[in-house]
Order: sequence, then structure tokens, then C-alpha cells
Amino acid sequence: MFGLIGHLTSLAHAQRVTRELGYEEYAEWDLEVWCSAPPQIVDEITVRSITGQVARGLYVESFFLPEMLAGSRIKTAIRKILNAMAHAQKHGIDITALGGFSSIVFENFNLSQMLRVRNIELDIHRFTTGNTHTAYIICRQVEAAMVKYGIELTKATVAVCGATGDIGSAVCRWLAQRSEIGELLLVARDPQRLADLQGSLGRGQVMAMPEALPKADVVVWVTSMTQGMSLNPAELRRPCVLIDGGYPKNLATQVQAPGVYVLNGGVVEHSLDIDWRIMKTADMLNPARHLFACFAESMLLELEGWHTNFSWGRNNIAIESMEKIGEVSQKHGFRPLIA
Ligand code: NDP
Repeated sequence: MFGLIGHLTSLAHAQRVTRELGYEEYAEWDLEVWCSAPPQIVDEITVRSITGQVARGLYVESFFLPEMLAGSRIKTAIRKILNAMAHAQKHGIDITALGGFSSIVFENFNLSQMLRVRNIELDIHRFTTGNTHTAYIICRQVEAAMVKYGIELTKATVAVCGATGDIGSAVCRWLAQRSEIGELLLVARDPQRLADLQGSLGRGQVMAMPEALPKADVVVWVTSMTQGMSLNPAELRRPCVLIDGGYPKNLATQVQAPGVYVLNGGVVEHSLDIDWRIMKTADMLNPARHLFACFAESMLLELEGWHTNFSWGRNNIAIESMEKIGEVSQKHGFRPLIA
């Protein structure tokens, strides 16, 4: 059985979707109540592969909200993630994806040193960040979008915002070594980590966001910002493709301007309907078939019987692992969302 640990993107989002799902009492909760809520299994999932295989899973809502990363609530955020992982393990789930900020909290606060949760010793082999599949899907979206919008690969400039992150660094590695793109711009805040990345890639220019955006034909957004930012489309090239892989979204509002195309980054489309309700909460266009690539990774690991932490740690995603998960992704009927 596979599992997905998820969370909503803000208190306002949480209040809206709980009301839409008919949980009127949760819609009244303020942040304090969300802070005290224990994890819950809120959905049962059946996914069918195009091979005919069937996998079953559970969705664990952690009740974490990004607002908890501010100031005095860090301990609450940590507790939310550890409790959700313990809940998944207690229910016998073999492989669980740590969606959105779950894996970021795990890494940023070194939770691998805190694996004892009451009477449960967390077995990290039962968890995957899902970031290998996410990075693979984003790279495929970059390549497909260039073809769709007539951007020539070898002359294209791609800016990766969040380049030094787990997903961002994997995307940079793939683009630098596998795709023959013209220029790679590396955007993040910490200069040392940027210099280390540039050194390991052997290419790419480190650039601040305001300088990089007007130069880019394609911008990949994979930062860990807890709130989106707005962009002035007048400063972008035409055509320009914005691939927003953040959760919460890195772009606060959809940029609407002729020649600027925004893609739902790190999202896959399945060939068959998935039996679940939960993707309705993520504002997907087709919630029966569209899902986050990290969630799809745990489905793939279950379908393949690879009950192991396929994606783990930070900034160590190998191109070979991206190819391997990409192969089984196609085999089971998932494809990058390009529309
Ligand atoms: P990491 O924490 O590993 O990396 C975050 C990156 O963002 C770092 O390079 C960080 O560098 C940079 N960053 C943070 N804030 C800013 C800022 N204000 N301006 C510029 N750069 C910034 O995160 P992950 O790679 O694990 O995840 C990235 C995003 O992808 C998250 O939003 C996450 O929720 C989402 N995600 C999506 C998935 C999907 O299936 N679609 C799956 C998993 C995650 P620095 O701090 O130096 O600036």
C-alpha cells in the first residue's frame, strides 16, 4: 500500500476547501486549532496502471500549514510532520510520499535525528520525498514547452529559481548534462551554495532574480517560498514559458500577457481516472487525472514493488535515478502536464 502525506497551502486555502468538502466545522478553525489537530487519514485511493496493475493507498492530512513556519510555531511544524509520518507507518503503509513542505521541514530541521515518535521508531525506508520524479517531470515539461512554443533548445536561456534546492539542483544537473540548452541561469539567495552548485555543474551563471527574469526564455520556479510573488510581465521575453513547480505556487497570480505561458510545474496527467477525492483540494483542472509528481512517485514505487526511500536527503538526485523513475512513469501511464 502507498501513502501520501499532504497539506494545504495557507489558512485561507484550508478554510475554503474544508467548506467546499462539507466540513463546515473545520472551516471555522483558526491557526491555533489547526496547530493542535492530529493527523488524519482523509482519503482512500485506488490507482490503475495502463499495465492492468492496481495499487491502493491512503492520504494522510498532516494539518501542517506554511504559516506555522513563522516565528514561535516551528516546533508545531516539526511535530506535524513527524506525527503524520508516524500515523502513516502505524497504518502499515509501505511507501509514503512527503508532499510539498513535508520534506522541506524534514530536511531544514534535521528530523532524521528525531525519528522516535512516542512508541514508534520511524523507518525512513518507508518514505520518499518524491523529488526525483518531480525533477524528471519538470525537465520533460521544459523540453516539451520549448517545442510547443517554438523556442530553440540550443539557443534557449533557462533560469532556475530555487536552483540550489533538492528539485532545482536536479533540474540544473539534467539541463546542464542531458539537454543541450544554450544558457543556464542559477537563481537562489545563498551565494556559497550557488557557487558550489556552479562548480559541480561546470557551467551556468549565478544571477539575481531581477537580472535573470528578463533574460530567460523559460523560467523554472522551484523555490521554498511560503507565499507566491507577483511578476511584471512587461519585464519578460516573448515568448516566455513560466513553469511553476512550487507548492504553494511561486507565482501569486497567473501572469496573463500575450506570449507568456504558465505551466503547472511538477504535475502529471494519468491515462486513467484515479479513484480519490483529494486532488479537488489542489485546484487541479482535472482532479481525477492530474496530480503532483511526488505523489505519483509513491504510486510508482508501490506498482513496481520498490518499497524503499527512492528519493531521500538533499541535493543528491542522480540523472540515472531520474531516468529510472521516468521509465516506470511512462510504463504505468503517467505523462508530464503540458497544457
Ligand atoms: P528546497 O528547500 O530543497 O529548495 C528551495 C530552493 O529555493 C533553494 O534553492 C532556496 O535557496 C531557494 N529559495 C527559497 N526562498 C527563495 C527566495 N525567496 N528567492 C529565491 N530562491 C529562494 O525545496 P525543494 O526543492 O524540496 O522544493 C521546492 C518547491 O517544490 C517547494 O515549493 C515544494 O513544495 C515544491 N514541491 C513540488 C512537488 C510536486 O510534486 N510538484 C513535490 C515536492 C515539492 P536559498 O534559501 O539560498 O534562497
